[in-house]
Amino acid sequence: MRLSRYFLPILKENPREADIVSHRLMLRAGMIRQQAAGSFSWLPLGMRVLDKVNRIIREEQNRAGAQEILMPTIQSAELWRESGRYDDYGKEMLRIKDRHERDMLYGPTNEEMVTDIFRSYVRSYKDLPLNLYHIQWKFRDEVRPRFGVMRSREFLMKDAYSFDLDYEGARAAYNRMFVAYLRTFERVGLKSIPMRADTGPIGGDLSHEFIILADTGESAVFCHRDFLDLKVPGEDVDFSDDAAIAGIVREWTTPYAATEEMHDEALWSGVDEGERLAARGIEVGHIFHFGEKYSKPMGARVTGPDGKDHFVSMGSYGIGPTRLIAAIIEASHDEAGIVWPQSVAPFDAALINMKAGDAACDGACDALYAALGAAGLDVLYDDTDQRPGAKFATADLIGLPWQVIVGPRGVEAGEAEIKDRRTGERVAVPLGEVAARLGGTPADGTPA
Ligand code: ATP
Ligand code: MG
Repeated sequence: MRLSRYFLPILKENPREADIVSHRLMLRAGMIRQQAAGSFSWLPLGMRVLDKVNRIIREEQNRAGAQEILMPTIQSAELWRESGRYDDYGKEMLRIKDRHERDMLYGPTNEEMVTDIFRSYVRSYKDLPLNLYHIQWKFRDEVRPRFGVMRSREFLMKDAYSFDLDYEGARAAYNRMFVAYLRTFERVGLKSIPMRADTGPIGGDLSHEFIILADTGESAVFCHRDFLDLKVPGEDVDFSDDAAIAGIVREWTTPYAATEEMHDEALWSGVDEGERLAARGIEVGHIFHFGEKYSKPMGARVTGPDGKDHFVSMGSYGIGPTRLIAAIIEASHDEAGIVWPQSVAPFDAALINMKAGDAACDGACDALYAALGAAGLDVLYDDTDQRPGAKFATADLIGLPWQVIVGPRGVEAGEAEIKDRRTGERVAVPLGEVAARLGGTPADGTPA
């Protein structure tokens, strides 16, 4: 992509409305535009990141056995009356009437709708386990939308819903999502820590929030330092082995970890003082087992091996891809701008022509652009006539893992400079070797 043709509305000044670094950088880098309180358009650079994040989420959901569907955003109030939540949900739900005066709503979540799909088709335990997910916009009329896409009113959610014959099956389904989440967050370059969450009237211990440590996080969190060294399972993890998956979950739920609401001073004082990590965190995912909460009132049942009818045992599993992108930036930036993990970077490299219009520089850049493309790299080629200083500032701000810098002196010597955005390290490399050097060499070691 040539920058001269690319819609990248960079802001020079810090936007006044942005209180936290991710919001500021997303606006400045031209990733998003605010359209109303808590509602944002995604511009081309932001869209590229969103696509990459969603792709990773999908791959890990699919790997764990979930199947993708797509449900509508606008739902009928009737379904929500069946579960009793139409009256319970309160002001966060945006309620709408259609032209026939029928009550509709913009979905804040999809338990009712997916339960309706399930009950319409599934009759036998032989069709279980089943896990259906979608990635769809949600609307919640938050009291205080703030921090950009971190807490917005319209936001994207990956929500998965599992259906099982009994608690044992539901627990195994829960564990699979737990492990899929560990892998998902690691692949987008984040260290996530699963923390016990409130199960309310459902009870039990099957609810975890996945938390990213960041100073700007909205919740106070407490955990054992052991989490920082725990190893996330590789892509060879066997999701059909319930015992092995349960073992991973056990390992990741043994050290102390809790958000403010679930914090237990007595247990906390049992953790060695030097091992205690009290910090702030961002909730990027939440998994929850709720048993028959919806299947019973909505009549979602299957015939079991015993020949009897059973209400299915369910769970739901959410990730906010839009919030996740803000969390990635909170965790990975510096004074000059964003520092993307390779796996979600909007482009792999910026190709910076320091003297556009100079025949030698243009020629070298055209050849590099072609060679990098042929090596499978996505390149943003800065072919504009801006000053070099401005080009460097833009490249740093948008945070691509590599910068390939081409200037008249270098070209004369047959070289370009490669800058690693994360470390700032620069090396001169012969023009003919740049593509080979960058192809398949993640700047930060995150899996591509
Ligand atoms: P919070 O406690 O932050 O309000 P929640 O517990 O209401 O979130 P869930 O219902 O668990 O959220 O939703 C699943 C995921 O959706 C969250 O983990 C988060 O990543 C994302 N999410 C929820 N609310 C928002 C929001 N207002 N803006 C952006 N993402 C959100
Ligand atoms: Mg939650």
